[in-house]
Amino acid sequence: MLQIGNTLVSLDLAERFFCCDLDKCLGQCCIEGDAGAPITEAEFKKLEEIVPALKPELLPAAVKVIEEDGVGYTDEEGDLVTSIIDGKNCVFTCYAAGGKCLCAIERAYREGRCDFRKPISCYLYPLRLTEYPAFTAVNYHRWKICRSAEQNGKELRIRLYQFMKEPLIERFGQEWYDELAEACEAYLAEQK
Ligand code: SF4
Repeated sequence: MLQIGNTLVSLDLAERFFCCDLDKCLGQCCIEGDAGAPITEAEFKKLEEIVPALKPELLPAAVKVIEEDGVGYTDEEGDLVTSIIDGKNCVFTCYAAGGKCLCAIERAYREGRCDFRKPISCYLYPLRLTEYPAFTAVNYHRWKICRSAEQNGKELRIRLYQFMKEPLIERFGQEWYDELAEACEAYLAEQK
């Protein structure tokens, strides 16, 4: 573990290579799993606000779920998460040619149709944060659907902490990220 401020960061961020390869994985992280993506109360409200801008590209089944049950729900573990259809697909998933999954929220953000990029838990994926009273744990959620990203990262020599630079800066700030990058480089130099 690397201690950066009041966070404990898994060594996976330094040791593992990672770079998403959407053509290979087809963005399965939007549709696999048995619950929606974790969201905060503020994000829940924001999603309610931007739904009208997203509706044209959402699946009819997703629109129905949102209209009947809302943009999110509390899952079995007591966490607030985005609503899902068919027991696994996030309602905010839209599809590109070849069955590639895209995030309708991020697409609208990039096209200037809304001012919210996506929930921070999605932006940070495949990293998962766990909040404890005294610190925040930052871990890599290693899952078979991302194997192509590990392979791609190896070929491109991009480590997980490097690939996740922007979302980590958004969550923890530039200073924190610079400290993390320094700690990762020092750790990797020690291993040589
Ligand atoms: S996080 Fe995993 S499933 Fe999602 S886009 Fe990246 S490699 Fe694909």
